[in-house]
Amino acid sequence: MKKMVFFRPFVIINAPLLIPLANAPPMLKLIDHIVRISARRDRTEINTALVEAMLDIFGPRSLRIYRCFSSTTHTVVFSCAGIGPEGSFSHNAYLPERDFSWPITRDPLLRQAEREASIVFKLLEDGSQRLVFPVHSLESLIYLVDIVISEDFSSENRVLLMGLVEYFTHHIALLDYGEADTLTGLANRKTFDKHLFEVMGKAASDELSMQKGLRRRKAGVDSRHWLAVCDIDFFKRINDTHGHLIGDEVLVMFARLMRESFRFDDQIFRFGGEEFVAVLQPAKQANVQAAFDRFREAVAAHTFSRVGHVTVSIGYSQLLTHDTPSDVIDRADEALYFAKQHGRNQTQCFEVLVESGKLAPKATNKGEIELF
Ligand code: GH3
Ligand code: MG
Ligand code: MG
Repeated sequence: MKKMVFFRPFVIINAPLLIPLANAPPMLKLIDHIVRISARRDRTEINTALVEAMLDIFGPRSLRIYRCFSSTTHTVVFSCAGIGPEGSFSHNAYLPERDFSWPITRDPLLRQAEREASIVFKLLEDGSQRLVFPVHSLESLIYLVDIVISEDFSSENRVLLMGLVEYFTHHIALLDYGEADTLTGLANRKTFDKHLFEVMGKAASDELSMQKGLRRRKAGVDSRHWLAVCDIDFFKRINDTHGHLIGDEVLVMFARLMRESFRFDDQIFRFGGEEFVAVLQPAKQANVQAAFDRFREAVAAHTFSRVGHVTVSIGYSQLLTHDTPSDVIDRADEALYFAKQHGRNQTQCFEVLVESGKLAPKATNKGEIELF
């Protein structure tokens, strides 16, 4: 990762006219931290930098940054960074872990911040104060910053704290603006490679710690992720019959059905036109097939306004250790093509098609033939 060095020399050089940062007034520290946060584009690094800033400037008693995943029925929060009893921590912000995620309803103050869409606070028994800041982007709640400050927290520090959270909100909103598909709000194709590298990096490190015995594989859970390409059937016909605007409405509704059909920690992208990609958490092939079929059936059962019924074809494949993003997309695409050729409105698995002799196996970039 390229390090941004501009501005840092100014604050760290101990020249007579410059103040060493450790003793600098909070305002100067804030500027220094804002410079550091603004230089980052990776969400995990941004969270880490925000935690460092809060720790350095405000010395909070506790701090949590929650990533929020909302569907129409419920919200899940993922504790992705903060300061706990054992010091500061930061998890990969792109890959929510179920062990650190729970329904927002478990914590009434977080729920209140979500409902009121504004800062909420609570006086704790020892006199300290818990503040929760909701962070919105593209009209959805995406983060909650949960901080406990001591009773003697100055009003000047309060202003700085609010300024810092607001700055964080704008920085994240700018990132989202560049990474979200403007029609459906899903992640766009540009972000796909980055997400996939995060998934593969994490899968490799989990595999390594399992081999070293540092972590146990959960019973019945496969270690590999799955990727599906979902393509709406005869979409051109919808555009031709009803016009592009109605076609766009179908895409928005389709994206919503997709979001509702998968779990909060499955990643969904609009890949282009009427093609969507889902990256699912590790699971057995039969369960993955069932999940994609449930989604396919939900689409077929939905009545799209003005258009009526629409179907989708799905091709999917398992992510292999040495895959590049285009390797796995190519395999899922082959299964999708098979589904299109054999009647549409169906879900096909590349590996199953290869095993049954309906598709030829593909040589991987390492020259091996891999099957599951
Ligand atoms: P198939 O079942 O084989 O997938 O048929 P299809 O008609 O869906 O496939 P094709 O790829 O030929 O057509 C996709 C159409 O999607 C072509 C294009 O007009 C339309 N499209 C692409 N992007 C958009 C968009 O953003 N909005 C709308 N309304 N239509 C789009
Ligand atoms: Mg298409
Ligand atoms: Mg299509």
